[in-house]
Amino acid sequence: PFVITSPCVKEKNGSCVEVCPVDCIEEGEDMFHIDPEVCIDCGACEPVCPVEAIYPDDEVPEEEADYIEFNRAYFS
Ligand code: SF4
Repeated sequence: PFVITSPCVKEKNGSCVEVCPVDCIEEGEDMFHIDPEVCIDCGACEPVCPVEAIYPDDEVPEEEADYIEFNRAYFS
């Protein structure tokens, strides 16, 4: 699945929500989250993020790696 990382915090642009074909991006308190069980890896959200916060889970930068678990935990 794709993962939203720290640049989303406070930015919360939300463009990703509009382009997701399976409607798996939810608004949290500080940022948006992608439901890893529902994401179909289409990649549509990645280029529309103005702060480049979205990565495929295997390409998340090391300093942002905690967001993979944080994101998963949000939906469990
Ligand atoms: Fe939605 Fe596609 Fe982004 Fe997954 S990769 S969150 S399915 S837009």
